[in-house]
Amino acid sequence: MAASPILLVGSVALDELHTPAGSMLDAFGGSASYFSLAARFFAPVRLVAVVGTDFPASHRALLESSGVDLRGLEVADGPCFRWGGKYGDDLNTRETLFTHLGVFEHFHPKVPDVYRDSEFVFLGNIHPALQKEVLSQVRAPKLVALDTMNLWIETARAELLDVLRAVNLLIVNDSEARQLTGESNVVRAGRRLLELGPHTVVIKKGEHGAAMFAAGGVFAVPAVPLDHVVDPTGAGDSFAGALLGSLASQGDLSDGGLRRAIACGSVLASFTVQAFGLERLQSVTRSEIAGRFEELRHLTHFDATTPLPGA
Ligand code: AMP
Repeated sequence: MAASPILLVGSVALDELHTPAGSMLDAFGGSASYFSLAARFFAPVRLVAVVGTDFPASHRALLESSGVDLRGLEVADGPCFRWGGKYGDDLNTRETLFTHLGVFEHFHPKVPDVYRDSEFVFLGNIHPALQKEVLSQVRAPKLVALDTMNLWIETARAELLDVLRAVNLLIVNDSEARQLTGESNVVRAGRRLLELGPHTVVIKKGEHGAAMFAAGGVFAVPAVPLDHVVDPTGAGDSFAGALLGSLASQGDLSDGGLRRAIACGSVLASFTVQAFGLERLQSVTRSEIAGRFEELRHLTHFDATTPLPGA
């Protein structure tokens, strides 16, 4: 079965990254860039985004050579979206140094006609009003997934709750889940999020893996254990890219299909964090991905066919 293309909206950015391993200025980043480079291993990506006139030709060439459909990438007068982040020593805490919207400030996404039949839609991390604008231009999506962040939960909560009503799969991290629901317990937060519209909620917990909440119950997958992490930026977007890519490649939206997709998310995120920015996602190969998928399978397997010890 041929993979269905994924319609993606998100940021294409120039990032300033500071981690205990060093710094990178003018790094090619953005939620849509990480998503695209992870998803491309599984399914074609149709990008809707905006960049400024200062967007380097080499970054565009990278997306092009990765097979990303750029017919929906607008070049507007003005500077690119820029974001700066600084991580604490344990890499679990991140401070946003600045968010310069640039051309995003006046962006109104236009979904090209040839994209409108997309069955898989990913509304990457941008203002929820823009996410809704994209969704209203798609004909009959089979699966709509959404990612967001603390900035929008704080500044555009009503718009976020509005677009969530039309979303099937919500992907957030644990602090966003807590912030959105007011629940400090992640399991309770997961259940509360299911009441907001999505039938499936995936909560990412960084180095502690991810959990999926749906009517059928809870599923959890660990992160791939790594002894050296360089830069966690984009881990969440890479996770989402592989997750959606896996679903779109097989069209299997069953519980089993979702579980496999979450495992793919965990695998691709583990590559992203091993180098700065998009570096590792650019160089990783299909056989390295398959090897780590196998490692994760081994890590999570145990013999459940014999009774509980002591029974
Ligand atoms: P993650 O580490 O998965 O949260 O993703 C980091 C990426 O998100 C960076 O490359 C940023 O350029 C991008 N980003 C950060 N803040 C925003 C925002 N407010 N809107 C859109 N993209 C953002």
